[in-house]
Amino acid sequence: MTSRFSFQVQATDGKARKGVISTPRGAVRTPAFMPVGTAATVKAMLPESVRATGADILLGNTYHLMLRPTAERIDRLGGLHRFMNWERPILTDSGGFQVMSLAGLRKLTEKGVTFKSHIDGSRHELTPERSMEIQRLLGSDIVMCFDECPALPADRDRIAESMRLSMRWAQRSRDAFGDRPGHALFGIMQGGLERDFREESAAALREIGFDGYAVGGLAVGEGQQAMFGCLDYAPDLLPEDRPRYLMGVGKPDDIVGAVKRGIDMMDCVLPSRSGRTGQAFTRHGVVNIKNARHADDPRPLDENCGCPACANYSRAYLHHVFRSGEMISGMLLTWHNLHYFQDLMQGMRDAIGAGAFDAFETEFHAQRAEGDIEPL
Ligand SMILES: [Zn+2]
Repeated sequence: MTSRFSFQVQATDGKARKGVISTPRGAVRTPAFMPVGTAATVKAMLPESVRATGADILLGNTYHLMLRPTAERIDRLGGLHRFMNWERPILTDSGGFQVMSLAGLRKLTEKGVTFKSHIDGSRHELTPERSMEIQRLLGSDIVMCFDECPALPADRDRIAESMRLSMRWAQRSRDAFGDRPGHALFGIMQGGLERDFREESAAALREIGFDGYAVGGLAVGEGQQAMFGCLDYAPDLLPEDRPRYLMGVGKPDDIVGAVKRGIDMMDCVLPSRSGRTGQAFTRHGVVNIKNARHADDPRPLDENCGCPACANYSRAYLHHVFRSGEMISGMLLTWHNLHYFQDLMQGMRDAIGAGAFDAFETEFHAQRAEGDIEPL
């Protein structure tokens, strides 16, 4: 086991990359999908179950954890890994995005953001320095720079102003992070859908120097076509020898399209959140288990899936427990969805290693086009 953070590209196929991130807490195979553990738990899953789906790394949310139970309390209790019983790598976001999207009455200045907690209305401040401190207290393996992200659409002036503020904050984040062997700091590229701003942002981040680079400011309502339009060039602006992380993405077809364009890491609440609302992701697209067509169906969600929900339960049972509001419904569907997402990543890693990514992508879309199995 290594004592330092490093990244190695093992194979490429077109722009798609297969590799491995090495950390003192274990390896992360890329392309990687990170399940989201917002409040120090991937909802409805035990950590060992999350691991069983194939996840190498989780994402934790600075905004939620700083408010409850607080970073200081988690630190006193031995750090986030011990607190939530997940000893493998954890990436934490900076809190910036969620302050902008969740917090009420926020005030943005050069120094940082002040806001009121959505839990009890108490006042808090997040700055690049405070975000680095919180992520250090949590014990995060991959720390994200504190940044600001405007909602799209926004005019060019607003996007430029926001991006340049984020680049000044990136320098302050780098300075505050300091030298922490075994821990990584990732910079976040901004610039909306404006290519010249993306270039300016990438140049500013490369000048500062980071262990990895995120493409931020996408998947905020611009649509898949616009996102792919940006991803056609944005990853190429970042260093080849560092991991590239697309934040908050996404649906299975977003993920495949992003990997094709050179992205190595992603995270999304979709598999776990959808699992709790009765939606299952399969090779054939989304299945709504609440639909009456499943009530008498003894077949599994997906006969080719190796997860416990598919190995041991029928669509009829999954339909019944969802309609009855039983907790096992969210548990089984979340497990299935996380398993499906990790299977998808493994399939892409294998395809890239074999130089067969195009064939993988064609088959992926062909299976989805078939749609769900016919009702009985
Ligand atoms: Zn399954």
